[in-house]
Amino acid sequence: MATVAEMYSLGWGEEGKVWKWRRRLLAWEEEKVRECCDFLTIIVLQSNHSDRWIWHLHVSNKYNVASAYNHLLSSTNNNLAADHIIEILNKEVPLKVSLFFCVGGCGMLEDTKHLFFSCDFFGKLWYGISHWLRFHMVFPKHVSDHLYQFGTLGGFSKSNRSAFNLIWLSCVWVIWIERIARVFHQKEASFHQLLDKIKLQSYWWLKGNRPSFAFSYHLWWLNPLPFLGIYL
Ligand SMILES: [Zn+2]
Repeated sequence: MATVAEMYSLGWGEEGKVWKWRRRLLAWEEEKVRECCDFLTIIVLQSNHSDRWIWHLHVSNKYNVASAYNHLLSSTNNNLAADHIIEILNKEVPLKVSLFFCVGGCGMLEDTKHLFFSCDFFGKLWYGISHWLRFHMVFPKHVSDHLYQFGTLGGFSKSNRSAFNLIWLSCVWVIWIERIARVFHQKEASFHQLLDKIKLQSYWWLKGNRPSFAFSYHLWWLNPLPFLGIYL
């Protein structure tokens, strides 16, 4: 084992002395080493600076949840946000577990798109939530299109898109938490309990983000649209 500084001083270019292999590399492995070397070429270590992580989304350069969350919501490119979210969740799924059957009890093998969007059990939550929002529609299967359609249900104003994106995120979040509860804690919430959790989650997130959002949860639960400034 060598430290990063030792590796740097030995040289980590393609011909660098840092690379030693116990056997001859296969072609695809050589390709990976080349990729790695390419990444490393732009790194310059400075002896008078200690290593530290930098989070570029906040001025403090330190990670905080709000900055990550705002980045996801404020992204002008919805496709990017959706793909980010699903990618993040996907990486959280251990391979062993991801090969299991869907925990929704539908009998299908689980993958991310299935779990969040097309499952007979979890997928219906989107219809439950859009019904609550007084919209009736068929959602597209592709993740980015799904977020775009949901996010623009209330119109294209920045404020409404942000609110609907947040409700979309609440739905994804609740499905994910329910999956964890089912896989790791053998606990199951019913369909209607999950719908209520999404309504409650979106309520708290909106309340946390909008100082003017001073309504009771009960009124939100009954009909959220007036509180988003939408009158159908
Ligand atoms: Zn399923």
